Amino acid sequence: MRQLVRAKSVNPYIASESPINEAIEGRVAEVLFAKLEELGLAPQYRGINKIRQNVVAEWGDRRARRTLMLNGHMDTIPVDEKRAKDPFSGRVRDGKLYGVGAADMKATLSAYIFAVAALRDLGVEICGRVILAFVVDEESGASSRYGTQYLLEEGFLPKACLIGEPGTEYVRIGHRGLYRFRLIVYGESVHTGVGAWERGERGHNAVVDMAKAIEALQNLEIPFKQSKTFPDRKPVFTFPTKVEGGVAMNAVPSKAEAYGDVRLLPGNSDTQVKLLIVERLHKLGIRYDLQDLLFVPAVEIDSREEVVTGLLLAIKEVEGRDAEVRGAGPGNDAHFLIKRDIPTVCGYGPDGGGEHGASEWVDLASLKLVTKVYAKYILNMVG
Ligand SMILES: [Zn+2]
Repeated sequence: MRQLVRAKSVNPYIASESPINEAIEGRVAEVLFAKLEELGLAPQYRGINKIRQNVVAEWGDRRARRTLMLNGHMDTIPVDEKRAKDPFSGRVRDGKLYGVGAADMKATLSAYIFAVAALRDLGVEICGRVILAFVVDEESGASSRYGTQYLLEEGFLPKACLIGEPGTEYVRIGHRGLYRFRLIVYGESVHTGVGAWERGERGHNAVVDMAKAIEALQNLEIPFKQSKTFPDRKPVFTFPTKVEGGVAMNAVPSKAEAYGDVRLLPGNSDTQVKLLIVERLHKLGIRYDLQDLLFVPAVEIDSREEVVTGLLLAIKEVEGRDAEVRGAGPGNDAHFLIKRDIPTVCGYGPDGGGEHGASEWVDLASLKLVTKVYAKYILNMVG
C-alpha cells in the first residue's frame, strides 16, 4: 500500500488531451503487476499501447459464466508539489496512511488484491471468476478510451462489477453525469483609434456579445425526473466557469471564449442541454460556435441487483450493520459498464479524508475492514 502511494501517478489532463505516450500510471502498474505475480495470479498488461497499460489478473474458473470485475483506477488527481510537503510520503500516523491517491483509490486496489490473496490462502475455490482490472486515465474525466473502455472492447466483459471508490457510508448505485462545453463568440477586430471604428463601419466586439450570451444563459433549468438514487438532487447548469476574451487594451476583441459545466441526472443528455443552449442563443443573433469538451452520462442501477445485494450482505456479515444505498456525486468509469447492461456498483471503499488535496489519507482500520468485506463479497457473487 505504501509502495502504491509512493509510486506517483498524477494525471493533470482532461481526457481529450491525455497523452498516449506518457507512462503516467507506469510505476503503479509495475508495483501491482509484481505483487500479483508474486501471488501467482498471472497478471497481464493490456493497453492501447506499450506505455499506457492497464493491469488485469483473473482468478477462478476461466470458463465460468459468473464473473465479477473489481475495477479501480491507478491515476490520481494532480497536486501542487511546491506547496505540499512530501505529498507522496506514504507516512503512517495515528492509524492513517498519508499521500495523494491513498483513499482515491490506491487503498481499494490493495484491498482487492489482499481479498483475493486471503481467500486463496484459506484454500477457497470459487466456481465463478474474479477479474481484477487496474485501469489508467480515470481522473481525466472518466471518459478515456485507454482504461475501462479499452478493456471492455478487448472482451473483458464481466456479469457484474464493483468500482470501489472510497467511502463506506453508502453503497453507491449510480453516479451523476457531467457535460462540459466551450462557447466561442466571434466579432471583428479593429484598432480602437481608427476612423472606421469611430464611425461604426468596422469592428464588432466579441466580448460584448459574450456578455449577452452569458446573460441569456442564466437560470437555465434542465428538465429531469427525480430518481430515488439521487434524492433532493437536480441538474445544475453553471455558465460561465471561466472566460477569456480580447488581446490588447487598444483593440476591439474578435473572439471570446467561455466554459460551461453541467451536472446531470439519469435521463439527461448532452444533446438535450445543447438544444436548450442553442434555443436561447439563437434569439441573440450573435456569431458563435458551441464545442463539446466532455460528456459522461448519469447512470443508476436497480438496488435489487445481485451486485448490490451481495455487497450489502457482505457488509452485514462483516460489520453487522445494514448499509444504505445512494447515488454518487462525481462520475466515474461505471457508466461504460452500465451502458453495456453490466450492473456496476459505483462506490464502496476504505474511508479517508483530504481527498483531492495534498493531505489525503486513508484510514488503515477501515482498509482492513473493507478488505474483509470484499472477500465476503467475492464469495457471495462467484463463490
Ligand atoms: Zn476515484
